[in-house]
Amino acid sequence: MKQSIKKLGSKVYSLFQFYKRSNFNTKIIAYHQANPAYFEDQITFLKNNFQVSSLSQALQNIDKKQVVITFDDGYKNNLEVAYPVLKKLGLKATVYVTYNFIENNEFAWWDRLENESLYHLAESLKTLHPDQLNKKVDELTNNKEKPEKYNFMTWDDLKKIEDVFEIGGHTISHPILTNISIDEARKEIANSKVDLEKKLGHTIVSFAYPNGNYNQSLMKVVQDSGFNNAVTYQKGNNISSTNNYALLRRGINYNDNLDIFKAKIGGLF
Ligand SMILES: [Zn+2]
Repeated sequence: MKQSIKKLGSKVYSLFQFYKRSNFNTKIIAYHQANPAYFEDQITFLKNNFQVSSLSQALQNIDKKQVVITFDDGYKNNLEVAYPVLKKLGLKATVYVTYNFIENNEFAWWDRLENESLYHLAESLKTLHPDQLNKKVDELTNNKEKPEKYNFMTWDDLKKIEDVFEIGGHTISHPILTNISIDEARKEIANSKVDLEKKLGHTIVSFAYPNGNYNQSLMKVVQDSGFNNAVTYQKGNNISSTNNYALLRRGINYNDNLDIFKAKIGGLF
């Protein structure tokens, strides 16, 4: 057992060396919440080993070897845990916010499941239309009060973090866009840009597909709505031939420690 862990460790290390030496790509990573136990070490590791670029810088020179840091949904955690670390290290990131989550400090359906130890059911519900999905979550849960850890930022919070974070769109209500009609999707996408711009007082150019789900029609809707780029959850490294409306991105889980983080950055899995 020990031997195989050692072997895996050296495999991670050599892959990482390979990744460092190679001369391709922009790697985009995606957090939801930053774990205070790991986040600073992860970001320090990035800073010591890579060029860490803002998304807009990276897109201007996508073949350069660099890492871009992003967050989805707009949790309060991003202000409390990620913002001070990024600010201290002088790095930029992007946070994609769901309009209604910010406006109403909603209790996201997957957090409602997690809060009642039902998160294992989340994946199977992701095939449903949002109306059915919400109904199902209502049936499954006891509507317990929302613990603080599931809070979202406020509009004032977003204004506060804009020296570090670019704010991007992530729809109005976070539907999985491939489960709704194209007309519904158009409203969710276009309105998120217009409404965010009204609240924040400047142009919004970046978009993230909820749960990463997208297709050709949705890419066109995002483009027609005036966004200039969009990220998915397809793994891989972005190069000049990567479509700007289907950028590849690697998810980082809350419990990923530094070794797992390094392995993901190195492309081991
Ligand atoms: Zn999301």
